[in-house]
Amino acid sequence: MANPLADLNTERVRVLLSNDRVQAELQALKAREPETIRTQIELTEIPSPTFHEGARAASFAERLSAAGVQDVHLDDQGNVLGWIGPKVPGLLLTAHLDTVFDQDTDVSVHQDEQGIYHGAGIVDDDRGLAAVLAVAPSLVAVQDLLTHGILIGANVREEGKGDLGGSRYLLEHEAEHFRNFITVDGSAPERIVTIGPACASFIVTFSGPGGHAYGNFGRPSAVHAAARATVAITDLEVPGDPKTIWNVGAIRGGVTETSIAYSAQIEVDLRSNEQSVLDDLVVRFRAAVDAAVAEENRLRDTSAGEITATMVQTCTIPGGTLPSESGLGAAAEAALRAVGVEAALGGAATTDANIPLSLGVPALCLGGGGHGQNEHSTEELFDPTDSHLGPQGIFLTALAQDGED
Ligand SMILES: [Zn+2]
Repeated sequence: MANPLADLNTERVRVLLSNDRVQAELQALKAREPETIRTQIELTEIPSPTFHEGARAASFAERLSAAGVQDVHLDDQGNVLGWIGPKVPGLLLTAHLDTVFDQDTDVSVHQDEQGIYHGAGIVDDDRGLAAVLAVAPSLVAVQDLLTHGILIGANVREEGKGDLGGSRYLLEHEAEHFRNFITVDGSAPERIVTIGPACASFIVTFSGPGGHAYGNFGRPSAVHAAARATVAITDLEVPGDPKTIWNVGAIRGGVTETSIAYSAQIEVDLRSNEQSVLDDLVVRFRAAVDAAVAEENRLRDTSAGEITATMVQTCTIPGGTLPSESGLGAAAEAALRAVGVEAALGGAATTDANIPLSLGVPALCLGGGGHGQNEHSTEELFDPTDSHLGPQGIFLTALAQDGED
């Protein structure tokens, strides 16, 4: 991705690297990595289901204070926030406290003979939390180099039904305190997520008069209407770029083969890397469902009742893309390259960065270091090979983005 700011940021990172104190902190981050992994394990072993992040938040806040961060506090929602550097709006650096696992899931961590750590949540997002805590004392140590402040912490409600609620709250209540937003989510440092796909999910329920398959033949059927709608949705044309998708992920309804179905449901997921393209797709999806219902009614005898459809939107996630000429993206790319990670902008994933991106606030998601597998399952594992590169890249990115005006 061509970025006119790339050279500027490469130069800025070169200047940072020539600073002995910055170099010392990069070395300290590598030396502290065993401690960072210990923190990661300890946080993983505190259950933290979405909406129940309090215990993990308290532990995180204590550690953030111990790192020398000022004004550490919990906000109304349970987000942890503290301040590094001058009280000038700069960066918000966060990771998410919640996991997809319930309170009863075994969250104990063990290391196997190959050195791999196993534990539910060890990567998503305890690696992110540990990485934020790892860089905190290093940023404090060089805070006199900053011209803008860093609001640093951890947020609630990223996963599933949390609906990015922690991030939404931060954008509503703290937006005047930062210009750039970085969330550290997951592990792999070579992947820089700059695209937050917008998402809309629906449950559509079709209802009708029902009846006997033989005796009432000719009445409209909820199953037939759902089938027509499904075919119509899968006929909707979508662009490959920006990537845009539809999926009818579940279809259910009816009673048995001798009954005309009085009820049927489909569950539909629509996503696009471009909000306006998703908005247009939602309009066409609704029209396709309405047309399917109208067609079923037109072809049948509706004297006993018509098919109707009700749509419930079950998920609305706004999205956006970091502009390719963004200084934040160039800073991250240059910083990661400087620590030896061949990082590329343009990763796409739904993360807390979706919310700022949807509002035009420069945002991206960085990996916390190491490599994970099987996230969102109890088989989740973390390979710590060279995992110090994550904190090093985040630390240098936080310093490099400070130069953008
Ligand atoms: Zn996550």
